[in-house]
Amino acid sequence: MEKKKYIDLHIHTNYSDGVFTPVEAVNYAYKVGLAAISITDHDMVGGIKEAIVRGNECGLEVIPGVELSAKGQGEQEEIHILGYYINWENQDFLDKLCLFREKRKERAYKMLKKLNDLGLKITSRDILKFVEKGSIGRLHFAKALVEKKYVQNTKKAFDRYLGCGKPAYVAKYNWQPEKVIKFILKAEGIPVLAHPLCERVSEEFLRRLVGAGLAGIEIYHSRHEDRKLDILKKLAFKYNLLFTGGSDCHGRVGNRYPLMGTIKISYSVLDKLKKYKKIMEGKNEQVKNKC
Ligand code: AMP
Ligand code: MN
Ligand code: MN
Ligand code: MN
Repeated sequence: MEKKKYIDLHIHTNYSDGVFTPVEAVNYAYKVGLAAISITDHDMVGGIKEAIVRGNECGLEVIPGVELSAKGQGEQEEIHILGYYINWENQDFLDKLCLFREKRKERAYKMLKKLNDLGLKITSRDILKFVEKGSIGRLHFAKALVEKKYVQNTKKAFDRYLGCGKPAYVAKYNWQPEKVIKFILKAEGIPVLAHPLCERVSEEFLRRLVGAGLAGIEIYHSRHEDRKLDILKKLAFKYNLLFTGGSDCHGRVGNRYPLMGTIKISYSVLDKLKKYKKIMEGKNEQVKNKC
C-alpha cells in the first residue's frame, strides 16, 4: 500500500520573520516526512529559489508562495492573502514587494519611536539583530522585547505593545484586498485567504473577496480550532473555493518547537491547487491567442 503523503503550504523563513533558512526549512520538512511545502514569506520571495534547489536535491516539492497583507474589515484591521505558484521572477511583482518592504521599514521606525516614548529603552540595533534578510515585522520587535526582558514571551509582546490597537501599534501600508487579489492574479498566482478565523472574517467580507477573484481559503491552520472548521468548509463549498492549509511555521520561537508538519494536510489539497493552476494557465493562453 502506498504511504499517505502530507504537505504544509504556509511556511516562513529568515527572508521574513521566520528563523529557518530556506535550506533548513526544506531539511526540516524532509525530516518530518512531508512530501511538499510552500515558502510563503511576508512581502518577500527571495528564499524560494534556495528552497527549490534544496528540494530538488532531496526529492521534496517546493511550491513558490508569498503572504501579503491587505486592509481588513475594520478601520485598523488587516487580513492576509497567500499567493501560490506566483511568478516570483516577474519584475513588476518584485518592484511592488520592494515597495511594501520599504514601507515596513518606515513603519518600524514609527513603532520604535512609540516604544521609546513609552519609556522602553530599545534601539534599532536591538531589533535589527533579529532581521536577517529584509522583510521587517512585529515578530522581530517581539523577540527584541523578550530579549530586553520587557515581556516574558512574544505573545505577551503582542498583547501589551504590538497587537492591533495596543500602544506601540502602527498600521501597515496596506492596499485594499481587491487590489491585492488582482495583483496576485496578475503575477500568475492563486490568491488564497490566510487564516480567516484569526481575523473573524465575515461572510459579507468573504463575498467581496470572492467577487475580486479569490480562489481559495486556508481551512487548516495552527490557530484554527477544529470545532470551527466545518463552518469554514461550508463557506468554501458555497463559494466554490479551494481548500488549503499550512502550519504558519516561523521556525523555533522561544522554547516552542517548529510547527511545520504538525497539522496533517493531505497531498490531495495540492492536487486540486495544481489543477486550478492549469486551468488558469489555459485561460491565459486563450487571452493571449485572442490578442
Ligand atoms: P507584521 O507583518 O509586522 O504586521 O507582523 C505580523 C506577524 O507577527 C505575523 O505574521 C506573525 O508572525 C506574528 N505574530 C505573532 N503573534 C501575533 C499576534 N498575537 N498578533 C499578530 N501577529 C502575531
Ligand atoms: Mn509572520
Ligand atoms: Mn498571516
Ligand atoms: Mn504567515
